[in-house]
Amino acid sequence: MKLINQDQIEKLAEFRSKDYFTTSFFLDTSRDRMTKKEIQLSLKNLINRSHSRLEKRNLDDKKKESLFEDLKKIQDYCTQKIPFYDDYGLAIVSCHKEDFWEVFNLVKSPRNMVIFDRNPYVRPLSAILEQYHRICALVIDKKEAKWYDIYMGEIDLMDQMETDLSKHKGETGREGFGSQSLEKHLSSLFQTHIKKASNHTFELFKKDSFDWLFVGASEEYLKELKSQFHPYLKERMKGVIKAKPSDSPDQILREALEIKEDLKKKEQKQLVKDFESEIKRGGLAVSGIRNTIRSLNKGEVKTLLVTRGFSKPGRLCLKCRYIYFDEEECKACKGKTIPVIDVIDEAVEAAMNLNCQVKHINPPSRLDRYGGIGAFLRFKS
Ligand SMILES: [Zn+2]
Repeated sequence: MKLINQDQIEKLAEFRSKDYFTTSFFLDTSRDRMTKKEIQLSLKNLINRSHSRLEKRNLDDKKKESLFEDLKKIQDYCTQKIPFYDDYGLAIVSCHKEDFWEVFNLVKSPRNMVIFDRNPYVRPLSAILEQYHRICALVIDKKEAKWYDIYMGEIDLMDQMETDLSKHKGETGREGFGSQSLEKHLSSLFQTHIKKASNHTFELFKKDSFDWLFVGASEEYLKELKSQFHPYLKERMKGVIKAKPSDSPDQILREALEIKEDLKKKEQKQLVKDFESEIKRGGLAVSGIRNTIRSLNKGEVKTLLVTRGFSKPGRLCLKCRYIYFDEEECKACKGKTIPVIDVIDEAVEAAMNLNCQVKHINPPSRLDRYGGIGAFLRFKS
């Protein structure tokens, strides 16, 4: 299935097996950079490397056997799939002995990797999803208005409305219409047109909440729209695109994606800046892996900031789901903690379970000065 929302990741993260490990597999299948043959070759290399890693690993036989079966199944599936595959990445999570098998088609390339762990490795999926915003693009001129939904690199026409203001010019010669009253008449038609478009945008927002609103219109229209928009829409209006209703969806998509990339970069920069000043003034934020994990365990975290690609081994209490950096004993239940490959992945998962936002920051950034990880807090105990 196509990876499109957070719910899919949360559902995946819930999978646990008492007796077996899970294989999480990620393959870059970007046809822009590789031929099908090259993708098949990187698949083979990845599986072979994982095979020899697994052979050396100290696990009991039945666990290992299930993981070897996962690798075989994944290899067979991909070998058949790749010749006809056109998404940018493929993620498979499998636990053979528990009959667990999930495939995700990805719109963005992940790093090639295979993780054998107690539960699914969800961090690459969360990182891909976090890059996407649901955008509504409104393009409007005197003849018509169109609303597009833009998400994960795809564009769909949501709705359209026609109001031909130009045809009213034909009424000039009509009896009873002096030039002054005609001007008034046209201006009121224009107002109605804008009002209708603005109201309809708000209706669409209430129905299918979007994160960002982009508008393609002339100066005059923009000014009027901005004054008419509901405060919720004003807040979300993030960009102006150079597009008309008659432009092709592809053209509108290209325009919108360019602005989106720019906004995304600015947003990340601002977020890290806010984080830094919060830390400096000793406010509601923590930095570094130990402090961040401690705050997560206490349920204090509001927004988790992690550097893309940064990972560290750590420990986990399976009973309480508390995360530790190196403590062998769980502080809550005094039980023994187990080693995990990437404690950041556990942190991302825990943050999702606590309904916190997770922001994946592209390196290099100023977050590097704070140990590559940090969080904004709801409260500080
Ligand atoms: Zn515990």
